[in-house]
Amino acid sequence: EAITVQELANRMAEKGADLVKALFNMDMPVTVNQTIDQDTAELLVEEFGHNMVRVSAADIDISQTVEADPEETLRERPPVVTIMGHVDHGKTSLMDALRGANVVKGEAGGITQHIGAYQIVTKDKQKITFLDTPGHEAFTQMRMRGANVTDIVVLVVAADDGIMPQTIEAINHTKAAGVPMIVAINKIDRPEANPQRIRERLLEHEVVVEQMSGDVQDVEVSAKTGAGLDKLIEAIGLQAELLELRARPDREAEATVIEAQLDKGRGPVATVLVNRGTLKRGDTFVVGTQSGRVRALVDDKGKQIKEAGPSMPVEVLGLGGVPQAGDVLTVVENEQRAREVAEYRREQATEKRTAMAPANLDTMFAGLNSAVIEFPLVVKADVQGSVEAIVNALHNLSNDEIKVRVLQSGVGAITESDVVLAAASKAPVIGFNVRPNANARQLIQRDKVRMMYYDVIYHLTQEIAKEMAGELGPLR
Ligand code: GDP
Repeated sequence: EAITVQELANRMAEKGADLVKALFNMDMPVTVNQTIDQDTAELLVEEFGHNMVRVSAADIDISQTVEADPEETLRERPPVVTIMGHVDHGKTSLMDALRGANVVKGEAGGITQHIGAYQIVTKDKQKITFLDTPGHEAFTQMRMRGANVTDIVVLVVAADDGIMPQTIEAINHTKAAGVPMIVAINKIDRPEANPQRIRERLLEHEVVVEQMSGDVQDVEVSAKTGAGLDKLIEAIGLQAELLELRARPDREAEATVIEAQLDKGRGPVATVLVNRGTLKRGDTFVVGTQSGRVRALVDDKGKQIKEAGPSMPVEVLGLGGVPQAGDVLTVVENEQRAREVAEYRREQATEKRTAMAPANLDTMFAGLNSAVIEFPLVVKADVQGSVEAIVNALHNLSNDEIKVRVLQSGVGAITESDVVLAAASKAPVIGFNVRPNANARQLIQRDKVRMMYYDVIYHLTQEIAKEMAGELGPLR
């Protein structure tokens, strides 16, 4: 396996010329377009102060050794649904309505418990799990941490309002994740409601709903009157069936943390969604860099339960510390093993923090061997005309071997949504006459997202074309 100097430079976010110089000093005179072997690449990575993460720790870390369960052990599992949409379009109201209890009104009575997710049982005894944190940022943050827990997205659009900026962002984030979507056209009780206009407007964003002869289910609902909720639940059930969601229930559990905090009375508490297996009271586990033993399991109604199966959200007590959302909880055979793995991960985490960029040579090489390479990008510009011109120009750079994929584009400053999406897809953000806002800047730093700023379209396309050629490697 080999990589060009330029390619390696791109991936380390260093200048090709600097790498050539370093190689020259190591008595290896090459040009940027020449290839070097993995050992040399490794030397360079270290030379530049990037940390190499070798994936040979499988014997220590369990996250790498999990195999798939045999076909015959798999059973149907409930779908996990996230609700997204523009602010005030009715996400919270819809969640409450689906849950059958008005949380806002019921708060004092404490009927419902907020644990970050809840499960409903439909009339025909099907279960559906809803994530309780609406919105696309949380969704993509999770995805970035490798946690693709959402099976289905319900996009809420208010029939009396229309397609708004966050509606579009939600569509982009959903598409980037490859998660199927159902459109809930909400507030149809309002006199100004115009659901047909919503359907037409969605076409502009390449969402073709069934009523427009597409394959995205659309349902008219009112979170206020409850109209259409049955249909929405039916639509979710149908989509879930198409997805054939299955998991093995009778094995040691593996679950994803969706929320975690330090509770004054109860200590560290995490809400997890069981991915497979059954989590039981008394189980020993490791979660992120923490280990623990399940002291109690609490469901979304505040009730203590003995065990939780696939897709079930449950609060776990008995953690050694507070894990992060997106961390995977894995049940292990004994406490010593749990401590060992947690310890190992803590060391790894410290090493990673000191690294300049996530440079993993195996993933670097991996991208070079696939058939059609995708080149993902997020584009922001100062005016709509520029956005269109840039997106068009970028698409024209695509060919049979490499394709530009614009994950999100729009007018205005670079926002958190742009950066989170870019980070999750390891894409650069292009700013044309625009800069990131303050929140976005923090995320750029934290997630080391690559920013490319331009004020001349030609320069932009030139540079992207060059990078695309670099992605293709030396053989073409
Ligand atoms: P979110 O910001 O998307 O979570 O939206 P909310 O659920 O907070 O709803 C925003 C406003 O719209 C609130 O005042 C709700 O009472 C109202 N609302 C939500 N759904 C409906 C609906 O179906 N019909 C009507 N008339 N109002 C609704």
